[in-house]
Amino acid sequence: MQGRFWLLLLLLLGWGHATDTTKSAVASFRALYAGLEKLSESLPRVWWDRQWVSACRPKDIRTIIQPVRIPLEKPEEGLYFVVPVKGVLTSGFGFRRGWQFHFGLDIDLKVGDTVVAAMDGEVRLAGYDPGGYGYFCVIAHPNGLETVYGHFSRLLVAPEQLVKAGDPIGLGGSTGRSTGPHLHFEMRFMGEPLDVSAIIDFPNGQLLERELHLSPESFAHLSTLQSAVYHVVRRGESFYSIARRYGVTVRYLCALNGLSPRAVLRPGQYLRVK
Ligand SMILES: [Zn+2]
Repeated sequence: MQGRFWLLLLLLLGWGHATDTTKSAVASFRALYAGLEKLSESLPRVWWDRQWVSACRPKDIRTIIQPVRIPLEKPEEGLYFVVPVKGVLTSGFGFRRGWQFHFGLDIDLKVGDTVVAAMDGEVRLAGYDPGGYGYFCVIAHPNGLETVYGHFSRLLVAPEQLVKAGDPIGLGGSTGRSTGPHLHFEMRFMGEPLDVSAIIDFPNGQLLERELHLSPESFAHLSTLQSAVYHVVRRGESFYSIARRYGVTVRYLCALNGLSPRAVLRPGQYLRVK
């Protein structure tokens, strides 16, 4: 099964060097997708459903990935990258509010601002997710990556539509689980979101690296997530009692959760304790 995965990865990378036009490139990507679908039948750790944002997510990508370079921009081969929207990063990739893990980047924008596709690809999924992404779309790119865009006020694309890098795909908004207008942006490999804040300069609208270097370390956040310990606050508990119970200090507990020691704890509230 490992062998089949590597064959797939090779196909994927070999494909990245193709000089096809977008249309035939997307056609070959579709064929690759069909291959993935077939693979998932024999691979229990990969589940597959085009209906979901996480269409294909291995149980632990760190066990199957080896160092690999994925081209993001190669104008000489017709591969372009356009930063989806220019703006300040308001929330990064990782834990926020202590226990909640943010699998993407939030970029500040105004309602109605045009958001564009980062790279050529096919809109795999587009729709409305009231409790999460709001109006969103997922674009599958020929280099094997997927990008996810959320909280649009208006969606400008439909599933199976082919888009070019820089094509408008939605208008900025605050739909879904959002507290103000912003773009929630994710870049994924095999369904697993990546922290791309170091390679995309959103305020200046620039791509800083023309290749994405992936290795098990790119997914180190999964270890942090796995080792995190949470506590649900019960009536009568205080920072002091919870800290004592887990053998940590109140200062550590507060820093981990971004809370002041004077904050009021509510029963049912989640706290990250490790
Ligand atoms: Zn977000």
